[in-house]
Amino acid sequence: MAATSGAAIEGVLPSRLSPADREQIERRVQQIGRGLLEQSLAAEPTAVSLEWWAQQAGEWATHDDDLKLRLFRLVDCMPMLEDPDSLDRHLREYIDDDVITRLPSSLRVALQAARSGLLAPLAARAIRAAVLAQARRFIAGSNPAEAARAALAQRRRHRGFTLDLLGEAVTSESEADAYADAYTRLLTELPRLAAAWPADPLVDDGPDGPMPRVNVSLKLSALDSQFDAIDPLGTSHRVLARLRPLCRLARAHDAHVHIDMESHATKDLTLAIFRQIAMEDEFRDWPHCGVVVQCYLRESLRDLESLAAWARDRGTPVWIRLVKGAYWDFETVHAEAAGWPVPVWQQKWQTDACYEAATTFVMEHATTLRPALGSHNLRSLAHGMAVAEHLGIDRRGIEMQMLHGMGDAEKEAVTAAGWRLRIYMPYGELVPGMAYLVRRLLENSSNDSFLRAGFVKHVAPATLLAAPAPVANADNAGADPPSAAGPLAAIGFHNEPLADFSIEASRRSMEEAVARLATGLAARPVAVASVIDGHRVESGDVFPRHDPSDHDRLIANVAAATPADADRAVTVARQALPFWNQVGWERRAGILEKAADIMRRRRFELAAIEVFEVGKPWREADADVAEAIDFCCYYAREARRLAAPARVDVPGEENTTEWLPRGVAVVIAPWNFPLAILTGMTTAALVTGNTVVMKPAEQSSLIALRLYELLLEAGVPPAALAFLPGRGEEVGPTLLSHPDTAMVAFTGSRAVGLAIHAQAAAASVAAGSGQVKRVIAEMGGKNAIIVDDDADLDEAVVAVVQSAFGFQGQKCSACSRVIVLDRVHDSFVRRLSEAVKSLRVGPAAEPGTRVGPLVDAEARDRVQSFIEVGRRTAREVVAVDVGTLAGRGWFVGPHLFADVDPAGPLGQEEIFGPVLAVFRARDFTRAIKLANGTPYALTAGVFSRSPSHLHEAAASLQAGNVYINRGITGALVRRQPFGGYRMSGSGSKAGGPEYLQQFLVARTVTENTLRRGFAPPRRTT
Ligand SMILES: Cc1cc2nc3c(=O)[nH]c(=O)nc-3n(C[C@H](O)[C@H](O)[C@H](O)COP(=O)(O)OP(=O)(O)OC[C@H]3O[C@@H](n4cnc5c(N)ncnc54)[C@H](O)[C@@H]3O)c2cc1C
Repeated sequence: MAATSGAAIEGVLPSRLSPADREQIERRVQQIGRGLLEQSLAAEPTAVSLEWWAQQAGEWATHDDDLKLRLFRLVDCMPMLEDPDSLDRHLREYIDDDVITRLPSSLRVALQAARSGLLAPLAARAIRAAVLAQARRFIAGSNPAEAARAALAQRRRHRGFTLDLLGEAVTSESEADAYADAYTRLLTELPRLAAAWPADPLVDDGPDGPMPRVNVSLKLSALDSQFDAIDPLGTSHRVLARLRPLCRLARAHDAHVHIDMESHATKDLTLAIFRQIAMEDEFRDWPHCGVVVQCYLRESLRDLESLAAWARDRGTPVWIRLVKGAYWDFETVHAEAAGWPVPVWQQKWQTDACYEAATTFVMEHATTLRPALGSHNLRSLAHGMAVAEHLGIDRRGIEMQMLHGMGDAEKEAVTAAGWRLRIYMPYGELVPGMAYLVRRLLENSSNDSFLRAGFVKHVAPATLLAAPAPVANADNAGADPPSAAGPLAAIGFHNEPLADFSIEASRRSMEEAVARLATGLAARPVAVASVIDGHRVESGDVFPRHDPSDHDRLIANVAAATPADADRAVTVARQALPFWNQVGWERRAGILEKAADIMRRRRFELAAIEVFEVGKPWREADADVAEAIDFCCYYAREARRLAAPARVDVPGEENTTEWLPRGVAVVIAPWNFPLAILTGMTTAALVTGNTVVMKPAEQSSLIALRLYELLLEAGVPPAALAFLPGRGEEVGPTLLSHPDTAMVAFTGSRAVGLAIHAQAAAASVAAGSGQVKRVIAEMGGKNAIIVDDDADLDEAVVAVVQSAFGFQGQKCSACSRVIVLDRVHDSFVRRLSEAVKSLRVGPAAEPGTRVGPLVDAEARDRVQSFIEVGRRTAREVVAVDVGTLAGRGWFVGPHLFADVDPAGPLGQEEIFGPVLAVFRARDFTRAIKLANGTPYALTAGVFSRSPSHLHEAAASLQAGNVYINRGITGALVRRQPFGGYRMSGSGSKAGGPEYLQQFLVARTVTENTLRRGFAPPRRTT
């Protein structure tokens, strides 16, 4: 691990400060810091204040991780628990008998009262009221009028404010409009009120004249339902269309607009949009705008440097609010789970040091970057004050900022010291406010929180005010964080990270690959033909394959294999068996790893083929390539595990069980995961010593050819792998009935899967067959997601949309039914409908496309016929019209039907398209019954915050893959072995530890080692 020191962080940015300056500044930091600290401690919150209770609640929770988790989860769903039964149930479930004994006595008594006796409902309601009061503590009112009153109250204490509208995650254009409308009203009405407020020089006097009295903070992700860094152009365009009028209004009414910063994934895009609008002629000379920079990001100092150069060029200063960052836990966990580099510093002192370096830099550029220090850490603030003093910066050009409801004693101290202090004041409804509250609770209860250290744990002032530096006794002091692979190492397998399209280089690589392929195809479509024993086989039966997004683009001309080709392919594969077997497990595993390396190298090229050949949008295409890489690596690993024969020896007897290949494997693959599934089945068969005849889907012959070629390049001998594109109905019967075919690995529809089973069985019993043909069949699903009445609807809407409409619903794992509990049914359907209407339908090659075309005309017609059935038998809630796209490609817009008959076609049949049926369930048990009420058992999901319901769902949802509080697609190799049972498949789990055995037979040799009472010594291994 490379060491990072405070000086290294500081040294990233140029500074005029000499070591002597820094020493002098440090002395002042201590003086200022002590003053602020003493004054704050003198006014510490007392047991009668809400702040004290908030601190204590956080404190109790910090000693017990399980308790913290339960309390925070309970708090999170509290606003949804309006009905007494639900409230009572959740209280009991989260705070059970064991937990209650671990609570401090005051809380224990209240909770015990809430769990028993006549007063139980009253006590439960009192607890809910107390929690909601806590939440309100951080919120400055539920509407603009209340917020305005709270803002005025701050001014009376000589503080400024910035108002932030709390909102649900914006999942639809109507929600984005509502957000923009709310700011429009605020920016129209509040300045009128504010004009009448008495002047306050501390708050109002700015560096170049009066500061706007009204100041708002807003989140760009709330201005566009499709806000996504994968499509910076489209996103910027839509965001700016809503942001411009707001900025115009703010300018006209003399208000300040500040752009908040959210997740790292959207940081570059947010900065780019801010820079773009601030540079437009209309706003270029406007000084009353700004943006947040989060110093917990390792990139923050570089971002500041680039902002400084940009602001110089702009010629008018902008405000930079420096914060540490509110999503530290999320950023860490998210990156670790994705296998991406963690973007945030992993040690608190590093964030603090980065904050100080950023402060110094901004102060040194204060004429272009106006410093606003958002922190409750008195050391961080004192440092800023000392630097400002040292550099002789006019205080009117700087401000300190703090959050509403936190660190009230500190606020008094900062204002008393003569600094302008601005309070960040969120307002809005409690339900959407809970995410904000939980962030604050996390912050308050963190071991690394300054507020907790100073005001709850009463850490010594010298420690609190010490300059950021590695903690002397920490094991990894000074070290950089472990790589993102760290936590994943525990599962023993690293999934190939998906491309991070928030990174410009990834976007560019994909864009170039798509453009290159488009040019290549325009010049010459690919001629795909069978390859047997390494020789290309032409055929008279050639069919064209067009781009599903654009009929005019020819992708390939495919020479279809004939039954005679199929016959020869199996014969050659049988002859190659002994040789391929001798190659051995280790070399075969190595070949798979080499194939993975080739795929990694050609990752974007392969993804681009999928974009054009089957209409996969960028992210889905990239994920398919990543999964193919995973299959190669995982099956290579598994093969090594199975290579060594298993021994069970007892005195006088030795037993050895070894795995043998079955023989020739016919692989019949679908087009929907055209690389991953074909790779998975083919490499599983090959690595276990079988030879393979690979029959890809007609629609995805080109990507299959590329797989065939790269497997040969990796070292698979030509005789061991035949490539047989073409029509299933033509070659299928020959492949299945061939006496040398030992097994069939199939993924596709239920009808074809069952037909393969029947044909294989018939061939097995036919005269002269000589073997029982093994069939592995992964078939369809009619997958459901249940949305409970306490579910987080923000998350449920996003996950249902993604699961139902990702790749146009053409995944066997896709959600095609959503079952919603009665109490939230209407509100959920309302939000879901708006979200579905907002999905961008378009050609797969465009990065902003969320819903692309269907794979071919047959798929389109089939889906259309289901839509007709839906119109006749259910209530059509959403029908997205694809307009002129219908003439260009096989497009069908997303559809949503409600009041669907569970026993009818929309409730029972696999549609494989962007059609989602909604069902209403009166209670949770009924919801489970509905979910299980089809012949399939592939995937299922549930959104709930009730532990007992989650337990019930996990135990009783009939599906091979059950997902809790997340979407139901995107299973990862090793982490979520994938496959269903009943009519969804034969129960084998692709990407799981038992998968390779399906391609093998076990052979056990038993030797009696006893001769005349004499046995060899026992083995020790
Ligand atoms: C006016 C204002 C506006 C804000 N706007 C935004 C915004 O737009 N976007 C946003 O993300 N946040 C925003 N915040 C929230 C702010 O990021 C947190 O309140 C802040 O991080 C807390 O830092 P602190 O200096 O007050 O406290 P401290 O206790 O000194 O620092 C706590 C912070 O340190 C970081 N940290 C914690 N543990 C570690 C660790 N192990 N390794 C490295 N770093 C760690 C985290 O960022 C954590 O929040 C805003 C805050 C204020 C006051």
